[in-house]
Amino acid sequence: THFGFSTVRLEEKQTLVDDVFHKVARRYDIMNDLMSAGLHRAWKDALVSALRPPRDKPFALLDVAGGTGDIAFRVLEAAGPDASATVLDINGDMLAVGRDRTPVRLVGQVEFVQGNAETLPLPDRTFDAYTIAFGIRNVPRIPLALAEAHRVLKRGGRFLCLEFSQVDVPGFDRIYDAYSFNAVPALGKLVAGDAEPYRYLVESIRKFPRPEAFAGMIRAAGFGRVTHRPMTGGIVRLHSGWKL
Ligand code: SAM
Repeated sequence: THFGFSTVRLEEKQTLVDDVFHKVARRYDIMNDLMSAGLHRAWKDALVSALRPPRDKPFALLDVAGGTGDIAFRVLEAAGPDASATVLDINGDMLAVGRDRTPVRLVGQVEFVQGNAETLPLPDRTFDAYTIAFGIRNVPRIPLALAEAHRVLKRGGRFLCLEFSQVDVPGFDRIYDAYSFNAVPALGKLVAGDAEPYRYLVESIRKFPRPEAFAGMIRAAGFGRVTHRPMTGGIVRLHSGWKL
């Protein structure tokens, strides 16, 4: 296809992904704002609203592919003083940025762990919530990651996943395609000095399973009450499930 990533084998995919985020780590946050026109903030806020962490009791969050800490910081701000967050990412450079930008008041509540979503270095039944934002499509073996999510959650725990989706609004889909195939790599070149990581980004969105297929994978991992809803005309989708 367009960018030559399609023939990449499963084992090589992770190496490719790691190179991408190694290259962009320091510019990641500003690129996020630029490329989504700030919308990623609203999508992340919507995840936190859906999660509704309690303010009056302990709450243990695991944010996988947590990168620079955006989700963890938001959840901790919304939760009570007894909440804690573990930010797990495969890429030490992304975690280092997150560590540097941790708000002082949250320092004691957040922990950064380098690890792979497919083989979490964490014990069974530990967390009240597992979140993954714009991360699952980077994971080569998604069913393994979902099984791990189920394993580390407590009974009654919540699974929430934000991911790019296919745009289904007529007309808007053409504009969105033009934007993603042309503007996104061009912006990447301009700001981060390299278009290639952003071509990968656009390509990986195309290849991600359709919403119903992904919901089926979440169910297959053992989750119940699985739902999903579109945001911003379907650019992004919030998937939800419970460990019953
Ligand atoms: N969640 C953050 C956000 O929404 O801003 C970061 C999302 S970023 C697009 C994707 C992240 O997934 C990167 O930080 C990357 O290192 C991480 N990642 C890729 N493969 C992974 C894996 N197998 N296990 C854990 N993290 C992974």
